[in-house]
Amino acid sequence: MPNTAASRKASLVPLRETGEEDARSQRARAERMAVAPLGGGLYEVESQSNETYFVDLPGGRCTCPDHMFRGVRCKHVRRVAIEINEGRVPPPGEKAAECTSCGTTVFVDENADGVHLCEHCDLPTGTPVVDRESGDLLVVVEVTDRRADEVDVPDRDCTVAEYPNNVDYPDDDPVVELLYPLPNDLGPGEIQPRHLRRYSFPLSRLERREQRDDEQTALTDFPATTQEE
Ligand SMILES: [Zn+2]
Ligand SMILES: [Zn+2]
Repeated sequence: MPNTAASRKASLVPLRETGEEDARSQRARAERMAVAPLGGGLYEVESQSNETYFVDLPGGRCTCPDHMFRGVRCKHVRRVAIEINEGRVPPPGEKAAECTSCGTTVFVDENADGVHLCEHCDLPTGTPVVDRESGDLLVVVEVTDRRADEVDVPDRDCTVAEYPNNVDYPDDDPVVELLYPLPNDLGPGEIQPRHLRRYSFPLSRLERREQRDDEQTALTDFPATTQEE
């Protein structure tokens, strides 16, 4: 698994208020260990004494003598659990991946392919965003898992990446589908096809509305627009 994040070999800062009194818990935290997720709930632990053990976290098992012969919840199993709780390694069922947009490490479903977006870059459905080119306010329908150079612009002989206003954005940007917000003063009978048309923009062309310093019109006040992308 090329994208798997492993923790650096280190001891962890002791927690004063965990009530973890017993010696195994203290060693699990204080000793220098490195944890590498192998997938399927398995983790490889390099111990302070440079031994390598394998931990099956869902099963609570470890290949070390302490667990094999004494049957205890050893310091390696505890250490894996601690590192998951602290976000240093992914939990069972998840893997580390790079955010498609900014490269930050994110934990995603073990079987997920395609676009992964970190909390900062993700644009959930309904998010108001500003088009960097026009300053227009739009609303996110969805972030697709298709690249800008894979999606054709309807009625034009080019891809989203090739569209004139988009050439300065990365070709491999995920395509975001958007709508212009409906104008406030529009009655139900006045809704026209252009009000419901979806637009496809490269992700980097958009920024969250709250990231703008200048004053933006409130979503509900936004006037009708006929602007094409
Ligand atoms: Zn162990
Ligand atoms: Zn990101």
